[in-house]
Amino acid sequence: MAKKKAEEKQETEETPKAEEASVEEVLLEKPKEGLAVELGEVKELEEHIVEEVKKKGAFEKEAWKPKTSLGIKIKNGEISDINYILDRRIKILEPEIVDALLPNLATDLLMVGQAKGKFGGGQKRIFKQTQKKTQEGNKPKFATFAVVGNEDGYVGVGYGKSKETVPAREKAIRQAKLNVIKIRRGCGNWRCGCGDLHTVPFKVHGKAGSVEITLMPAPKGTGLIVEKECQKVLKMAGIKDVWSRTEGQSRSKLNLLYACFGALKELMQFKISQKDAEKLHIVEGSPLIKV
Ligand SMILES: [Zn+2]
Repeated sequence: MAKKKAEEKQETEETPKAEEASVEEVLLEKPKEGLAVELGEVKELEEHIVEEVKKKGAFEKEAWKPKTSLGIKIKNGEISDINYILDRRIKILEPEIVDALLPNLATDLLMVGQAKGKFGGGQKRIFKQTQKKTQEGNKPKFATFAVVGNEDGYVGVGYGKSKETVPAREKAIRQAKLNVIKIRRGCGNWRCGCGDLHTVPFKVHGKAGSVEITLMPAPKGTGLIVEKECQKVLKMAGIKDVWSRTEGQSRSKLNLLYACFGALKELMQFKISQKDAEKLHIVEGSPLIKV
């Protein structure tokens, strides 16, 4: 890299007349070439990373050394229910707490990045790659968006960035676990009335930046009528049918995903009496994990 840099400098020094052209070259063409090579490497890395995320073995409670008082209580067995933490809004500071209390926790990385392609034809990638221009050259940075959930009422999302791909992934997954929330599910569509937990029980909204999303109850068998990455978030949350509507720049993927998560958060922001909950078949979190 240093050699290339030196050569570039020499070129620009030798031809001071064609300065404009060389500047354009540097700005437009040179970084593209560099990026293409790096992205090729990233693609391989990415495949490896995705495999690794899926392979992840079971959580070993014995090997875990808790650092917070909450963690110690969980290891001792004083707290064995995630609802105890979520209902009291206790801040989770160790991702292992979520691992210990929510078995069958799955992790996925969402496509928030894009490979360089002409005319917007860039392929989707799990790493959003950005570059800072410095005296030493381009300094790339990687960011990724993770979603964790048990596909049964509990879900969390997280965003992580770093100079390397692997720490970015670790940060994102850690954040996602710390952000875990409980959602309400039910059968809120007037055309269905089956009583299963397959959709959102009522209409909810979420907003991030200019992006607004509305999730609406849908009858059984509809599927997830929503953007592809949002589908992954909803699937992790355990929602199978939903209708949706978006407003604003929904192409800005991160805002769309935050809005989607915001809408899921809103599911818990109403007080519902036990009577109404039974009447409308609304269940908080997972029916298997009892309060
Ligand atoms: Zn239904």
